[in-house]
Amino acid sequence: MTTMKKTILLFYTVISILIALFMQNKVYADNEKSILFISSYTPSFISFNDQLKGLNYCLNNNYHIQVEYMNSEKFTDEKHELHFYNLLKLKLENYKNFDAVVLADDAALNFGIKYKNSLFKDIPIVFLGVSEEKNIVKAKNENMSGVVEYSSISETLNLIHNIYNNNKNLVLIAGNHIKYKHEINDFFKLQSKLSKFNFKYIEIPPKADDEFLNKLRNLNSKDDVVLFVYPYRDGIGRSISILESNDIISKNVSAPVYTTLSYNLENSMIGGKVICHFEQGKKAGKLILDILENGYTNQRIITYENTNTWMFNYYNLKSNVIHTDLIPKDSIIINKPIPFFVTYKKLIIPTLITFIGFISIILALIMYSVKKRKSEEVLYKAKLLAEDANNAKNNFISNISHELRTPVAIIYSSTQLLRKLISKYDQQNEKVKIINNNLNIITQNSNRLLRLINNIIDVAKIDSDFTNLNLTNENVVSLIEDTVLSVLPYAEEKNLEVIFDTNVEELIMAVDKEKLERVILNLLSNAIKFSYSKGKIFANLIATDDKLKFIISDNGIGIDEKNLSKIFDKFMQVDNLLTRRNEGSGIGLSIVKSFVELHNGNVYLTSKLGEGSTFTIELPIKIIDDDLNNANEINAHDVNVNIELSDIYVKRDSD
Ligand code: ADP
Repeated sequence: MTTMKKTILLFYTVISILIALFMQNKVYADNEKSILFISSYTPSFISFNDQLKGLNYCLNNNYHIQVEYMNSEKFTDEKHELHFYNLLKLKLENYKNFDAVVLADDAALNFGIKYKNSLFKDIPIVFLGVSEEKNIVKAKNENMSGVVEYSSISETLNLIHNIYNNNKNLVLIAGNHIKYKHEINDFFKLQSKLSKFNFKYIEIPPKADDEFLNKLRNLNSKDDVVLFVYPYRDGIGRSISILESNDIISKNVSAPVYTTLSYNLENSMIGGKVICHFEQGKKAGKLILDILENGYTNQRIITYENTNTWMFNYYNLKSNVIHTDLIPKDSIIINKPIPFFVTYKKLIIPTLITFIGFISIILALIMYSVKKRKSEEVLYKAKLLAEDANNAKNNFISNISHELRTPVAIIYSSTQLLRKLISKYDQQNEKVKIINNNLNIITQNSNRLLRLINNIIDVAKIDSDFTNLNLTNENVVSLIEDTVLSVLPYAEEKNLEVIFDTNVEELIMAVDKEKLERVILNLLSNAIKFSYSKGKIFANLIATDDKLKFIISDNGIGIDEKNLSKIFDKFMQVDNLLTRRNEGSGIGLSIVKSFVELHNGNVYLTSKLGEGSTFTIELPIKIIDDDLNNANEINAHDVNVNIELSDIYVKRDSD
């Protein structure tokens, strides 16, 4: 498929999806469920919004609610009603059918009943907020379901009765309208039951005149407790509004005021069992859903007991010293200060978690460092103990070695004395030959013992950092050459050829003569020990401007690659005791390395198993100012050779 075709296909797919989505929306719009809500009043009427909110809440906002306002507060005449009827009829003819009709308040109910057949035929009707007795009867006769609005006078009065013990005037402030006649009746009906109160009634006039205001001002908290019932408004200027009356009461009445309307709570009124229009809307919504889902089965009237709610103002309770224990448990308390924790919950919890997290991390770090310090202390103590033990061991070894050296030296000098004595006799005599032979064996083994003792003492000294260099300016060419020459008898004994070569005739540099000699003897001794008969040993001296290189290579048994890195370790021997073909203690090379490093030099090894080994010593060339040359000369060269090469048996003339 070409790219062009692919693009066109993609374009059509996207367009199809968009059309499908658009169609889906349209289908949804056509299927939208709707309810006609006829309010007796206007949007500004205080109860309207709460009724609508309650309804929407219950219907989960799934219904479109078309609201029509009768405005019957202001327009009560038939002409206006007819206009409203015609307008509604026109709208209904041009609008699709409603799923249900809600008639909110008395005027709407009367209108709905009157025009039920011509406007709402076969549409379920539910009323709400209807409070006039005669209208409730009418609705019942029409077999309509709905929610009744009624003030909870008796419940609120019973509460007042429980709160106040002493005799008081119980004053009802209410409008004297026909609609509220039953509330005034309800009030006075309780007079005999609540006999500790002196029942009084102050009628709310259409306008708040001085006489009315004076009556209010005469009320006081010591003698009076008030129940305020909102006056009904049935025409322009014929009564004061809820908010106005609220204002008047809070400004003029110093006695505690209870009420039957939630809207009165914001000012100075305490509360009571109040009419709840939100709850009315919810209950009406429930009735609608029930009818739409199950069909209209039987009439259901929701009474005010099921919608009115205990509600109080926190501050007014407090200012009137009424403890919350005195009011019903399920009461709603408005304006209750929200505890700090609740207000800042969203902020406090993450902050707390972060804080705890930080503290935990800090604690963990502290614990870790304390633990670390403790283990470091333990380690340090263990190190000190180990060092002490090691020093003690080194001292012991060093002492023992020194102690051993004396008897060995005595044995050695005794053999020398015996050798001198026997030299006077006929050397061809068989007995003399045997004595000489045994003297050689004693001398050789004394030397081996001495070498071992010397090495042990050196290792102990190196371990304890007691090894010092005794530097003198020496001609290292002759020193090294002499040393190489001195091992020739040992090499010849093993049928080996030693080839010495140098690129300089003379090279003066500062060395510890004795130590350098031992280093070279050790390497040569190893080369002889680990070479096959007829092998070759090369000893090359290469001097550069600043370095002396001495290379000893053999074509002997060589060293396995895996052992190369450990060969300079103390006590390291490649062969184990059972397979060893040569004598030795495994400390020679570690001493070589230490002595070379004391000279600030390096020692390297390259080797291949079966092919031979090459040891390279690299020493920096330097001269010391204080020429002590020959001052400490030790003329024990021959002795050293014999000792260092004591692992190799040499036949002497006398053997
Ligand atoms: P030792 O006293 O046993 O010779 P060294 O420290 O001098 O101790 O040598 C350690 C080991 O290194 C020897 O035992 C041997 O296995 C190996 N080695 C040293 N030099 C050579 C060499 N030239 N050829 C082969 N192996 C060697």
